[in-house]
Amino acid sequence: MSQDSLLDRALVRLDEAAGHLSIDPDVIEKLKYARETTKARLMIRMDDGSRKSFLAWRCRYDDTRGPTKGGIRFHPDSTADEVETLAFWMTFKCAVMSLPYGGGKGAVQVDPRKLSKAELERLSRAYIQAFSRIIGADRDIPAPDVYTNSMIMGWMADEYAQIVGQAEPAVITGKPIALGGSLGRNDATARGGYYLVRHLAQDLSLSQTMRVAVQGFGNAGQHIASLLAADGHKIVAVSDSQGGVRCDAGLHVDMLIDAKNAGRSVASTAGQGGHETLPADDLVGVACDLLVPSALESMIHEGNADSIKAKLVLELANGPITPEADAMLAKKGVAVLPDILANAGGVTVSYFEWVQNRQGFYWTVEEVYDRLRTIMEREGRAIWSVSRDKNVTLRTAAYIHALKRLAEAIEAHGTQSFFVS
Ligand code: GLU
Repeated sequence: MSQDSLLDRALVRLDEAAGHLSIDPDVIEKLKYARETTKARLMIRMDDGSRKSFLAWRCRYDDTRGPTKGGIRFHPDSTADEVETLAFWMTFKCAVMSLPYGGGKGAVQVDPRKLSKAELERLSRAYIQAFSRIIGADRDIPAPDVYTNSMIMGWMADEYAQIVGQAEPAVITGKPIALGGSLGRNDATARGGYYLVRHLAQDLSLSQTMRVAVQGFGNAGQHIASLLAADGHKIVAVSDSQGGVRCDAGLHVDMLIDAKNAGRSVASTAGQGGHETLPADDLVGVACDLLVPSALESMIHEGNADSIKAKLVLELANGPITPEADAMLAKKGVAVLPDILANAGGVTVSYFEWVQNRQGFYWTVEEVYDRLRTIMEREGRAIWSVSRDKNVTLRTAAYIHALKRLAEAIEAHGTQSFFVS
């Protein structure tokens, strides 16, 4: 593994895409650095009366196309480098989908599984206390990410409302429905990926009944497994951070979800309904047609990319494939639906939530699904065409597609603007 930062490695995609376009050097200079990254120490009272502090960040990477948008992650391994990289990816993701947003991201360095519910609520409120001057419905709009959810967004929205003295639902998305959340936001990341796969199935020569392996069984992993199983595909292997299970005849997705809801690993279902134990590290090499990384960055790397047997990888996680592994997969002829397109359903329905909050007019779930499908298919088709026309991977095509929109916006701000100075 290279010693470069995660951001340096992510920026290689920018240069690659720029090589296919004639772009003003101002544009590249603008997109190489985060606009601002704020760090804070969140101090909370633990249930036993002690005090504990946690490192936290909020990065507004680029706001040329609109307010910065992106989730808040609670994870013990989070770093400033990771937050900036995720915010860089959000910048491109929002441009890919033509959403009127720039890219942002936040994190707290914490293992939320070790906190009680009350401690988690205090930490969530402390995050908003620390960053309330940075966020705003027209400035920076957080949402859920790894190990955060609608309950946490509800606490954060409440804290923000208390600080500003009035409810301001559009400041944060992924809220509970009762606080102005959108119908269809909960499974939007997986549903967007599902619509995309369905739309490109013929172009990618996918079979009617695919064998699917899902790495990571949080929000995205659980929903993609349910959506694909309901369409008759077989979920043959699943893993989470504690272990995995496999079953060639198809795993019982409901049993896996019940285990997670009860706070257990998917591995705890081994021995029931034909589920067999699978070491989590072996998941990527399982015989299947579609591999869906739905966990963290860099899970597919030089050390395991060669073992992949799938014909297609759907990146529901952000950055699950390292650049080295990406090159190996391209050489092997494995197609990759890249994160900035494949998992963009989440932020797209976040955008729908923000629009509904601002209008005070709420859509049916069918309207949400229909609009999401239209955008996924439109942008997916455009990226497919760029990849054919320029003979590049779908990832490079997605970056080219986004970079054109970013360049146009940066140039439209004017050459003397501080946006491009
Ligand atoms: N955390 C999600 C992502 O990485 C969603 C962000 C959002 O809805 O703003 O795309």
